[in-house]
This record gives sequence, C-alpha cells and structure tokens, in this order.
Amino acid sequence: MMDSKQLYQEVILDHNRKPRNYGALADATHRSEGLNPLCGDHIWLSLKVDGGAVAGIAFEGQSCAICKASASMMTTVVKGKAVGDVETLIGEFRAMATGQLEPATQAHHLGRLTVFAGIKDLPSRVKCAILPWHTLHAAFVQEGSTTTEGEADPVS
Ligand code: ZN
Repeated sequence: MMDSKQLYQEVILDHNRKPRNYGALADATHRSEGLNPLCGDHIWLSLKVDGGAVAGIAFEGQSCAICKASASMMTTVVKGKAVGDVETLIGEFRAMATGQLEPATQAHHLGRLTVFAGIKDLPSRVKCAILPWHTLHAAFVQEGSTTTEGEADPVS
C-alpha cells in the first residue's frame, strides 16, 4: 500500500506528464488569469457555465509541478458540478492547504483532492496549490485576473 507521501508524488507526476483539460475553451463564458509572484506560476482558466453548473473547464499557462497538478486535478473534479458546490470546494481546498481543515477528522467534500493535505507543511508551496482554485473563484465572480499577493492574498 502506498503511503500518503508516495501517493502525493505519484499524483503530481501523473498530472504533470498528462495534464487534464489543458488548453482553452473556444466557447467559454468565464475566463480568468491567475498569478503567483512568489513562485512565478501564471495560469489562464476558461470555463463554460451552463444552467448553473460547470459544463466545461480548461487551463493553460506556465507553472511549477504542484500548481499544474492542482489545476489539472481541479478541472477533473469540478466539471459537471453546480457552481455553488464548486464554491464550497474552493473554500475547503483553501482551508485544507492552509491547515484550517484537517480532512482526516473534519467533514468535507474534497474526495481525492485530500492528496494535497500535506501541502500545509510546505509554506512556500501553499500558494502554488491554491492558485488554480483562487483563479476559478475569480472567474466565477467575473474578475479578469487575480494574484496571490496583496489584497487578494488567499492565505493571509
Ligand atoms: Zn508554484
């Protein structure tokens, strides 16, 4: 059986080798750009919201392995979900990554996203993992771009 650290490394490697939903949607209803100056992660999200649910989502950009894996996994998890449920996930992922939610003992809807639970012990990488989620929220509220620094800092 793989321990959580091995599983985490496997997931990061797999999503970097074969990022899911990589590219841009031609018929996107929402777009957002996310920047994490701390690491240099720079991503673009495009999504199609239809009937209050995420009908399609894609990402592209230049980012580190953690950010890329988080974005890739995020697209697979949120596709088909209602926007309200996705906003709940965004909050839970942020809480887990910053150590405010302990997925082993607290209720959540994170499912296989809990593979990122250990990120809270790597403070310099927390924003890398959160950036795609932060950018997704910005897309929902029709903000053209967001950053992990300054007033929009999702960690502070
Ligand atoms: Zn990064």
